[in-house]
Amino acid sequence: MRVLVNNEIVHREDVRIDFEDRGYQFGDGIYEVVRVYEGEAYELNEHIHRFYRSAKEIGITPPQSKNEMKSNIEDVITENKLLEGGIYFQMTRGVAPRKHQYEKEIEPKLIAYPLYFTRPEKQQNEGVSVLTADDLRWHRCDIKSLNLLYNIMMKQKAHDSGSFETIFIRDELVTEGTSTNVFMIKDNVISTHPADNNILNGITRMKVLHLLNEEHIPYEEKSFTKQELLDADEVFITSTTSEVMPVLKVDEQVIGNGLPGILTKRLHSLFLHDIKSPEIV
Ligand code: PLP
Repeated sequence: MRVLVNNEIVHREDVRIDFEDRGYQFGDGIYEVVRVYEGEAYELNEHIHRFYRSAKEIGITPPQSKNEMKSNIEDVITENKLLEGGIYFQMTRGVAPRKHQYEKEIEPKLIAYPLYFTRPEKQQNEGVSVLTADDLRWHRCDIKSLNLLYNIMMKQKAHDSGSFETIFIRDELVTEGTSTNVFMIKDNVISTHPADNNILNGITRMKVLHLLNEEHIPYEEKSFTKQELLDADEVFITSTTSEVMPVLKVDEQVIGNGLPGILTKRLHSLFLHDIKSPEIV
């Protein structure tokens, strides 16, 4: 495997991570996962834009320009001959003697490498079940931070119970999943939590809203309660790796008629069309 380390692509064996890296000690950094279809990074500009936004919010200056980062990531895809999967990239504040506060001069550490996975077709076709849990995360979920402790605890809880995802509830309202955004459909109106500090504004979420606009399908960026979620006609979750994934059960309660919804399936096919011909849709 070939890995980007700041401005250089090296063999995996030659990557050195210092034990005093603040990413390792504090989770002091940010990341992205971009999908690769047929050797092309999908929505790469949007991921880089969000990466820079997260970096700015926590006060790290990336070691390269957006265009350099873009061509470096494309080089990682080419050098690894990656056709299907994703690129993980993360940036930490860098290496310093361990203390909470930091000097502004630390050199950030950027890495990018391929992830090998395919589309989760079975779950997309058959739908998935999810759990719910109190959203006990911090209030800056808009930053794609390396600190994912509560997310992984709740993803593992879902996994252990045979569910696909855990959906968070904050102050009675559905926010998002541990690694997905949540949509519900009631009487043909689609709702999803507004892009504020309590969710990550998913690239897939934004793409779905764009497709809804294009198709003149009504939607609102408005939060809803767990009860409204349970009473919905259709529920689906979105993410870079899941795309548009139908949810059939929430906490063991069946949603709608218990089958992947018509509008959900239509949105997924619009999404798949966009992947194949992003410039046309
Ligand atoms: N919400 C959270 C907390 C996530 O971690 C993710 C993706 O990892 C998403 C939503 C979905 O974002 P995207 O569509 O950009 O993958």
